[in-house]
Amino acid sequence: MTNKIETAKTDTVLSVRDLRTEFRGDRGPVRVLDDISFDVGRGKIVGLVGESGSGKSMTALSLMGLVPKPQGHVSATRMDLDGTDLAKLSPDGLRRIRGRDISMVFQEPMTSLNPVRKVWEQVGEPLAIHQGLKRRDIRARVLEMFEMVGIPDPKARLDAYPHQLSGGLRQRAMIAMGLICEPKLLIADEPTTALDVTTQAQILRLMQDLRDRVGTSIILITHDLGIIAEMCDEVNVMYAGQIIEQANVFDLFERPSHPYTRGLLASIPKATEQRSSHRMPSIPGMVPNLAKLPPGCRFSPRCGDAMPICLQKEPGLADLGRGHNARCWLHLPHDATTQREAS
Ligand code: SF4
Repeated sequence: MTNKIETAKTDTVLSVRDLRTEFRGDRGPVRVLDDISFDVGRGKIVGLVGESGSGKSMTALSLMGLVPKPQGHVSATRMDLDGTDLAKLSPDGLRRIRGRDISMVFQEPMTSLNPVRKVWEQVGEPLAIHQGLKRRDIRARVLEMFEMVGIPDPKARLDAYPHQLSGGLRQRAMIAMGLICEPKLLIADEPTTALDVTTQAQILRLMQDLRDRVGTSIILITHDLGIIAEMCDEVNVMYAGQIIEQANVFDLFERPSHPYTRGLLASIPKATEQRSSHRMPSIPGMVPNLAKLPPGCRFSPRCGDAMPICLQKEPGLADLGRGHNARCWLHLPHDATTQREAS
């Protein structure tokens, strides 16, 4: 854990409250995100971590206004990006903000890049859209960005096509595109998963360096707890469409308070084991089907600490102090009668 932590959120770039995303299903709406609330401080790196299907990427798509419509529906009490409520923006308003104030880097850059267009034209596209710059000026700015993100021989790489770059260089180019309009917030969705270990480390160092130099706030989505420990200031652990624990990175690793988080941390392989196995450790059982959630706590079928009330009532978030919250009855007052009746 290399970052200095400040728990007081004095300067917040993003504030999300009660985010809910639903999709229409054959048997009615399925809520894929429920009661998502978190903040991102200016210049901070905030992690979203969880197994596949926990809702990490859906949270990003909901913030970006990229949830497919009309099947999907996003609502929130607030999604405030530095004074602009994303929840109240029209599709046109969201298009104006995307790439300028909030941008996203995806896991596999080849799926985001057009194979038949030169890289500089694509990386510079947000400048054409949002700032109306001339081609010559865009090209010069892309060159600056290529230098900044450490693309070797950047001038020669401007006219390359995506397939002529290695995976690491393509991801650097995507980060350059994400940052070219100096957004307030960059969302990086598993940005290093498709890369080899050495390139992974370079890209992560680059993101930290850019955060330090440019001050961009970053939401880092990953299932790798090692990356969370190295990179993040704050962490949100997601399970079955909810945030089940949130804390600064030190508290999360020192005082994990939700049985799911404890299980994840307990099953991290030792340093002597292969790096690739640092990915999301396995906990016995399966993530529930969101269309058929168990009654009570969503984690109860896999939880060794489950109490009778856990099978009856869904827990809210317990406030453990210093911004540390856990969605678990172990930390919430509950009615003993309910337990007696249930047992
Ligand atoms: Fe386990 Fe109960 Fe806490 Fe859910 S609420 S994580 S079942 S102890």
